[in-house]
Amino acid sequence: MTPSYIDSHTHLQDDAFDDDRDEVLKKVRSSLVSFLWVGYDIESSKKALELRNESEPVAVGVHPHDATGSVDELKKWEYLYQQADAVGEIGLDTVRSQTKPDDQLLWFKRQLEIALYYNKPVIIHEREAFDAVMDVFNTYRINVPVIFHCFSHGSKEVLQVLKKDFFISFTANITYPKSDDIRAALSVVPLDHLLLETDSPYLPPQIIRGKRNDPTFVVEVYKKTCELRGIDMEYLSTQVLENFTSVFPTTLPFLKHNVQ
Ligand SMILES: [Zn+2]
Repeated sequence: MTPSYIDSHTHLQDDAFDDDRDEVLKKVRSSLVSFLWVGYDIESSKKALELRNESEPVAVGVHPHDATGSVDELKKWEYLYQQADAVGEIGLDTVRSQTKPDDQLLWFKRQLEIALYYNKPVIIHEREAFDAVMDVFNTYRINVPVIFHCFSHGSKEVLQVLKKDFFISFTANITYPKSDDIRAALSVVPLDHLLLETDSPYLPPQIIRGKRNDPTFVVEVYKKTCELRGIDMEYLSTQVLENFTSVFPTTLPFLKHNVQ
């Protein structure tokens, strides 16, 4: 049986794919069962909604690096959030950010409220702002699935996220020599809370470091996970697909592989 791969976080609508998107999409659609298109601002969210097909969920959201200007502007775009399968990527990021922490917090909270109102899953982007993000979650009653994308902390933080019953998604940074902490984190995530992703065009696996990443390279993330967890590919891919479809059940009837 061919493993049923998914990519729980990609930006195929990014300019990096403008020259050859059709080719890339063809390749990706023939090797993956599904993948999540993730927006990072209004334009990229719209573009994802235009390009996706029915088996491919879309997250609409404004990334913390784009969280500037009046948050009330979001009212104008609320229809996009309604059309989406998830809200994201949203969150907080203190690394090299041009936006103000107060603005980031406002945009994060407002978009989280939209997700809760429309009952949509949430995709979290968080860099060096773990406690602040968890503080926000502690002030809301969260009754939608939450995915912590590109998890880049250690096992201590994993436990805090698991206490909330959130999903944890790992990228190919687990293949980088210096990522011992992240590998340790991956080792303790229960398989029913695990997702795998590329974050393409970013974060290429070690074997193509420095080049453009695309969702087909999620295979490298699966391989490394099998190695670290001592499990086989079929078992891992079945479980990860099950997690993905539990977050995005509306994609299920459209998946090309027979998923039970
Ligand atoms: Zn991303």
